[in-house]
Amino acid sequence: MRRATHLGFVAAAVFTVMVLVAAVPFWLNRSVNVMLAQARAELLAQQRLDDILTSVRDAETAQRGFIVTGNDAFLEPYEQARRTLPGALHEAKEKARTDAERATVWRISRLVDLKLAELDETIQLRRHAGFEAAERVVSSLRGKLYMDELRRIVAAEQVRGKARRDALRADLLARSEKSFYVSVAATAANILVLGVLLLVVTRVLRERRAAAAQLEAQAGELAQAVALTTRHNRELTVVAELLRAVDAVPSVAAAGLVLARAMPKLLPGVAGTLFLLRDDDNQLDREAQWGTPSDQPPVIDIDACWALRHRARYRTAGHGEPACAHYRTPVDDAPGRLCIPLVTHDDLLGMLHLEGLATGPGQDEQERVAVTIAEQFALALGSARLRESLRRQSVLDPLTGLFNRRHFDAALKRELARARRKNVPVSLVLVDIDHFKRVNDDYGHAVGDAVLRTIAQQLRQGIREGDVACRYGGEEMVLLLPECAAADARARAEAIRVALATVTPNPEGEGPERITASFGVASYPVHAQDAESLFWAADKALYRAKQEGRNRVLMGA
Ligand code: GH3
Ligand code: MG
Ligand code: MG
Repeated sequence: MRRATHLGFVAAAVFTVMVLVAAVPFWLNRSVNVMLAQARAELLAQQRLDDILTSVRDAETAQRGFIVTGNDAFLEPYEQARRTLPGALHEAKEKARTDAERATVWRISRLVDLKLAELDETIQLRRHAGFEAAERVVSSLRGKLYMDELRRIVAAEQVRGKARRDALRADLLARSEKSFYVSVAATAANILVLGVLLLVVTRVLRERRAAAAQLEAQAGELAQAVALTTRHNRELTVVAELLRAVDAVPSVAAAGLVLARAMPKLLPGVAGTLFLLRDDDNQLDREAQWGTPSDQPPVIDIDACWALRHRARYRTAGHGEPACAHYRTPVDDAPGRLCIPLVTHDDLLGMLHLEGLATGPGQDEQERVAVTIAEQFALALGSARLRESLRRQSVLDPLTGLFNRRHFDAALKRELARARRKNVPVSLVLVDIDHFKRVNDDYGHAVGDAVLRTIAQQLRQGIREGDVACRYGGEEMVLLLPECAAADARARAEAIRVALATVTPNPEGEGPERITASFGVASYPVHAQDAESLFWAADKALYRAKQEGRNRVLMGA
């Protein structure tokens, strides 16, 4: 604002000075013209008086010649003067500019009239009375007096005219000098003001340019910040969605699928593979893939990956850098690879392998996003794993790994309801180890536990997927077989019984050579309609099996 005011002020000053400079020659020219006109008028006035005087003098000379000779030929200039003088006198009176000039012309006119009258008189006398009569009048010096007075007036007028012309010239010179100085001063001022204007304009332009550049830079930075924030927000949203999804997944394996769905949105154009570490093992399973990844082995060792070995991300951009052993394609064929270990609370959970990352500008940004995802995913994975283990603990029996009674009760109710709905059978097989007390008594509780684990293993192996094997209490176990009719359940129980008799009860150490169990089978809808009576029917069959000598399968009644 201040700069703009300055600029306006300087521009106004420049304009004023320029007008002044332009006006000086104009003004000077005008005054010179006026003065020259005055001088010319002065000269003309003088000329007129001189001409009048000359005419009168010529007339007098003519008169003298006529008087002396009596010859009319001498009178020609006199006649000429008589013709021209009235007009010349009239013009002189007309052109007189001041009262003084007018008075002078009047005096001259009167003297001319008197002189002409005297000349006329003497010429008439010479013609009619002779030379002497005329000579007398001439000698009276009257005519001479008129001439002398006329000459004096014209001479005085000449002196005055010259004085006026000198004054005019001096005035002209003074004005010209003054205008020269004014011109020089105005030009100097103009140059100075123009210089200042140039300086101010240059500075203003420079400042504007700088301000514009600064604005442009700020706008650029702002746009970048906005773009960055937008991208971060989008990433945050996707990461938040990813974490929410991982939080909701029922298993760690399902978390891998969630990640595979989210990754193309977070890192477009980047392919990847998720490896998850097995429990109590040094191997990782290929759990999920996205994009078009290179061939990655289904199982890798911790030692096969630099990132897993050092628990720090490892990037290969090609150009002969050492490659991880799990790369099946040469590094140069697939540059921009990044392995990020998934670690939470110092626990290694797995590894994120990314391919096709930028290798030039944008590399750091992509790597930052990848690391953020890996960190967040590892945290989510850790809690998913914890949840999974808690869930498993809440439904599993810790000794045998079979489901616990609580889970069994719920599963039985659920399966019965489904069986009723779908009109399909459900069978129960109760299992009780024969003379198990003896095992404890003879070999101790630890061996008893080992035998329990062996039998649990046999039960797990003897059932289909979807069947439920459960430790119901102590050394009693139960199998829940959905969509399995009584005869099939009995056959399955029989197969387990036979297989059990062939296994080593405690493969870890001493123990009984052989172990047997008794089985009681009952089926919905043939033996009972509800959970409780179905269980009692199976229990009764088991009781009978014990009664009838153990190591056998009996069906409910
Ligand atoms: P039977 O053939 O009549 O079933 O004879 P049994 O000796 O098996 O008799 P019973 O079923 O009454 O005995 C159950 C025994 O199982 C009692 C208990 O000491 C033992 N037992 C129950 N739970 C466990 C366990 O978790 N570990 C061990 N080692 N023994 C258990
Ligand atoms: Mg028992
Ligand atoms: Mg028993």
